[in-house]
Amino acid sequence: MTTDKRDIFSRQHLVPEVASYFGALTAPDDGYAAHAVDAMEKAGVRALSVSALEGRLLETYARLSGARKAVEIGTLYGYSAHWLARGLPEGARLYTLEKDPACVNAAKDAVEASNLSRKITVMEGPAADSLKTLAKLAPFDLCFIDADAESYPAYLKWAAANLRPGGLVLAGGAFLKGRVCAEGGEPAANAAPRAMREFFHILFDGDRFVSASILPTGEGLAAGIKA
Ligand code: SAH
Ligand code: MG
Repeated sequence: MTTDKRDIFSRQHLVPEVASYFGALTAPDDGYAAHAVDAMEKAGVRALSVSALEGRLLETYARLSGARKAVEIGTLYGYSAHWLARGLPEGARLYTLEKDPACVNAAKDAVEASNLSRKITVMEGPAADSLKTLAKLAPFDLCFIDADAESYPAYLKWAAANLRPGGLVLAGGAFLKGRVCAEGGEPAANAAPRAMREFFHILFDGDRFVSASILPTGEGLAAGIKA
């Protein structure tokens, strides 16, 4: 890790005091999705979900966009879905897609425990299949991509085809834990970085999306507006 001040990967400003200060400020936010957080901690998968601060950003984006019809790709236990739902008005719906049946059950439990069933529909199965079904409900206002990196280009193309003009696409884990620029090595290990760079090529090409950006949260949160 470099100490270059211009390096957006640097955590130099996140000294332990600062991290615990904001950790304490956002602790009540984790309580909002208490059931999901408990279940993730018991299963040892908390690190796979967005952080509370990233969740707050998802809420902010959702609220700013005024979305009424949204889709999330990659539910896990429903933690980020809680945040997105918090930013959606009454009467809005978030479809969240998950292929792992155990995650689907955990997410449904968490959604029910938080009284969010009226806003969130968990869809089980490979995202590619669910997206085909959901295309019939297009146009969507918001699409949050947070699943298998290899499929990010396909998910982004789906968003380009199924968001309304002005609709918002977001993507989590965008730095690929620092491997987004990785070259060489085994082809299998290269698939994810290559896919992620194809994703960014589409997002930033200025044709399908405008105002493409990336927030340097720990994981990297990419955003773009459908042209
Ligand atoms: N958005 C969640 C974290 C998602 S982790 C949160 O922040 O709380 C990524 C999830 O995507 C995992 O649960 C994994 O099972 C799911 N996933 C991976 N590939 C998938 C696919 N092809 N279709 C549907 N879900 C997939
Ligand atoms: Mg993640």
